[in-house]
Amino acid sequence: MSQVKTIGILTSGGDAPGMNAAVRAVVRKGLHNGLRVIGFNRGYNGLLKKDYRDMTPRSVSNIIENGGTALYSARCLEFKDPSGVAQGVNNCLELGIDGLVVIGGDGSFRGARDLSLSGIPCIGIPGTIDNDIPSTDYSIGFDTALNTIVENIDRLRDTSESHDRCSVVEVMGHRCGDLAVEAAVCCGAVAVLVPEVPFDLQKDVFDKMSQAKEHGKTNFIVITAEGVTGIGLGKDPDLTADSLAKEIQAKTQVETRATILGHIQRGGSPTGRDRLLGSRMGYYAVQLLLEGKGNRVVCERCNSITDFDILEALQMTRPVDEQLLKIAEEISV
Ligand code: ADP
Repeated sequence: MSQVKTIGILTSGGDAPGMNAAVRAVVRKGLHNGLRVIGFNRGYNGLLKKDYRDMTPRSVSNIIENGGTALYSARCLEFKDPSGVAQGVNNCLELGIDGLVVIGGDGSFRGARDLSLSGIPCIGIPGTIDNDIPSTDYSIGFDTALNTIVENIDRLRDTSESHDRCSVVEVMGHRCGDLAVEAAVCCGAVAVLVPEVPFDLQKDVFDKMSQAKEHGKTNFIVITAEGVTGIGLGKDPDLTADSLAKEIQAKTQVETRATILGHIQRGGSPTGRDRLLGSRMGYYAVQLLLEGKGNRVVCERCNSITDFDILEALQMTRPVDEQLLKIAEEISV
């Protein structure tokens, strides 16, 4: 018989489609097992301000199909300070919380690690469209964002094709190139730039486009990750989606426009994949707490749900998929 009677749940950091599926699964699995489930509003802010709701099965009705997060999300700077964590621990003890599920990115996991080390068992669930959590193959929201990117690039392709143009498209991913690489394969981009792999614009973009032109190609998609051209994220601060478009036009004589997809990528109804991933991870997180476990991150590896120590997970690294990059490169011209 599990000692766990009350659990808390919060969503923190950047929102991602599919977070609601995870919230729903945590609440329903917790209630199914006779637990009290407390939902904190706006990430760690709700924990510090004791801004919470007692969740019932109906609290999570009709949310699985919605993007964003029904528990709202926010950054909480106070929580980065040890005094904030101490306040969080006190509030958990006062509310009788035996375990907390934190859905978010690696920043949110650092908060969960600090709480766990202070005696409140926490389980992290990776929720971010960026897929920048190395311990998991996929994070919740990635698949929806990828599909949003594909849909939008298809639209750009229509107009690029009509006008013999090139579209430079900057996609999100923070310092991770996964969204860019997968979108490049899905959309037939002639070139893709990611932060993990050094590149030479002449060889990797201009020459490739010229070669493709010789093969009769008249319109082009070039994808760049925000970790390359995003303001403040790229290694070369002068390289932006706009400056790249201008250089491409000057070097190849192909009329070129830049599009930064931006926060469009964060919204929308989650795909079936993200609903499944969120549901499986939420269910698994509650199981871990019922088994008396804490300080774990739920991950998907080779299509199975598993878990790792938070400290270990935070130290992992994952290179970009070189094979996929190669595929993108070889089949685009
Ligand atoms: P994400 O979880 O998407 O990576 P952030 O990095 O903004 O987003 O982190 C979300 C929240 O997690 C922060 O606002 C803060 O409350 C908490 N957090 C981030 N870093 C730490 C840290 N080093 N220690 C404790 N809490 C942290």
